[in-house]
Amino acid sequence: MNRKDRKGRKERLSHPGIRPPMTVTPDQSNHPNGSAAVRIVDLHRHYQMGETLIRAVDGVSLQVRAGEFVALLGSSGSGKSSLLNLIAGLDRPTSGAVIVEDRDLAALSREELAKHRLRTVGMVFQSFNLVSRMTLAENVELPLRFAEVDRGQRDALARKALEGVGLGARLTHRPSELSGGEQQRAALARALINQPKLLLADEPTGNLDSHTGTEIMNFIREFNQSLGMTIVMVTHERALAERYAGRMIFLADGKLTDDRTNSTAVTVNLQKDQR
Ligand code: ADP
Ligand code: MG
Repeated sequence: MNRKDRKGRKERLSHPGIRPPMTVTPDQSNHPNGSAAVRIVDLHRHYQMGETLIRAVDGVSLQVRAGEFVALLGSSGSGKSSLLNLIAGLDRPTSGAVIVEDRDLAALSREELAKHRLRTVGMVFQSFNLVSRMTLAENVELPLRFAEVDRGQRDALARKALEGVGLGARLTHRPSELSGGEQQRAALARALINQPKLLLADEPTGNLDSHTGTEIMNFIREFNQSLGMTIVMVTHERALAERYAGRMIFLADGKLTDDRTNSTAVTVNLQKDQR
């Protein structure tokens, strides 16, 4: 990271709190309803397993507009996680293009891809993926360390982020001392600490009971509706998608089989008192 970059970064983070940048990149997709946060063009991800070729992602094309809340649905093995990992830049396609915020991920070097993971996307997983020997505050500030933000600022931002998800009294606890719901809230705080434009969630409530899962989903909905963050969430629970997502995309055998608007999603203001 060059000096100018680092300085710019610090300035951007000098406004603490969970608040992603609200500017959107100009639309080059000619999409009628706003700019594209994610564009996927004839995407393939194949795995060679001995003699067998597994087409985990098999010719998917789609666009996600900035500010959308999209659920990716499909049975186990349909390619949902493979697709999400490609958007996250955790994996590279066999062929096809993934364009996130107008950047073609295939054109990025390893370092640039790492930067993409650090700054443009936030990610949460079914299994929380917190570092067990670190406190919650240390876990949450980890992305800021990678982004070379000053220590004093990191502490304040991590505290603020944890307060934002109701964990202000758990800063020095370790993940094993917390419930699943609390761990996932901490993982959310960590995903958002760098103010990403795009939140990618892979079965974020898969390991939680329904009450705790609802709590997590309400946070995700709030990030979407009050901060304008784009959400792509993998789930195999159709009811969850219907309640929260504005759009449902269905995958089967690595192919997109359906893509529809969901008008049954409930907005945050109507739900706020039910938290
Ligand atoms: P989902 O998230 O919908 O359950 P995945 O994307 O995890 O599906 O997997 C899609 C298909 O790709 C499955 O058949 C799975 O076994 C296969 N697969 C996923 N990751 C790998 C890998 N790293 N190596 C080989 N096969 C894989
Ligand atoms: Mg999966």
